[in-house]
Amino acid sequence: MTNEQTTFTLGSGVELPQIGFGVYQTPPEETADAVQAALETGYRHIDTAAAYGNEKGVGEAFERSGLDRADVFLESKVWVVDYGYEETLHAFEKSAAKLGVDQIDLLILHQAYPKRFDRTIQAYKALETLLADGKVRAIGVSNFLPVRLERLLNETDVVPAVNQIEVHPYTQQRELQAFNREHRILTQAWSPIGGMRTYGDGDTPLKDETITAIAQTHGKTPAQIMLRWHIQEGRQVIPKSVRPARIAENFDVFDFELSADEIARIDALEQGMTMVPDELDFDTFSIEIPEA
Ligand code: NDP
Repeated sequence: MTNEQTTFTLGSGVELPQIGFGVYQTPPEETADAVQAALETGYRHIDTAAAYGNEKGVGEAFERSGLDRADVFLESKVWVVDYGYEETLHAFEKSAAKLGVDQIDLLILHQAYPKRFDRTIQAYKALETLLADGKVRAIGVSNFLPVRLERLLNETDVVPAVNQIEVHPYTQQRELQAFNREHRILTQAWSPIGGMRTYGDGDTPLKDETITAIAQTHGKTPAQIMLRWHIQEGRQVIPKSVRPARIAENFDVFDFELSADEIARIDALEQGMTMVPDELDFDTFSIEIPEA
């Protein structure tokens, strides 16, 4: 039984904790307190994004914590409107200044923009430059399907350290996970407890009968069962909450183990849909990313 958190070693040799803390849809004014609660609980990886509008809150919590810079892993994402070589170099400057740091541990492209894939490639080449210059410690992507990854791998030099994709019991993207594994790209699971469904009207795996039954067997909550399932299947997870009790609950997953049968029962819950379509057209709606 694994009774404490371990780390993943990314391609560049950098260590990433198994559980990170997400801040998507955390209001900017609540972000510093949520991240502070996470750091106090023991989380050492925070996942934010330029498009979330709350990088400053993450930086403020880190500042307040008094922790050494080397002990906290900060990840952010470049938004699509900032794709292009020079634009992405500048996007790094904006994010770093908002976070209040000189170096970002992991900087990733928020998603492919198929309509302007040339700019997506140029953005990734800028990430490669930032990596070579030591401005970031690792680079990666998010929401990239195999067809996009294949083209990226063909046209650039550094294999993405991570591909951050939607994975929870109802959406497992097994083919994409296999592609990531084959190329030694770590799968980071976003909405690991089904969050995007919680925000909408969709069924949430938090209320799933199978998961609830397994939770009762272990004296754990459905969220803890799902997080444990990810960890045992080798994915990194980044659960989000603004509530200290849940922030602690989501981190308390190292004192029990799911059986092979329980894992198989959760695997069987797949419904096969993802909340983020590959073909978004960002010309029709665009969030501008302000200067720091
Ligand atoms: P999660 O799966 O982490 O679920 C978050 C939701 O579940 C919130 O509504 C939260 O509410 C609630 N919740 C949290 N803990 C518990 C618990 N123990 N019991 C019951 N409910 C709980 O969803 P997210 O979509 O936020 O994904 C996690 C992170 O992944 C994001 O914050 C972001 O960092 C990243 N992400 C990346 C995306 C991408 O495109 N790359 C897309 C989406 C997310 P409350 O806060 O009120 O507790």
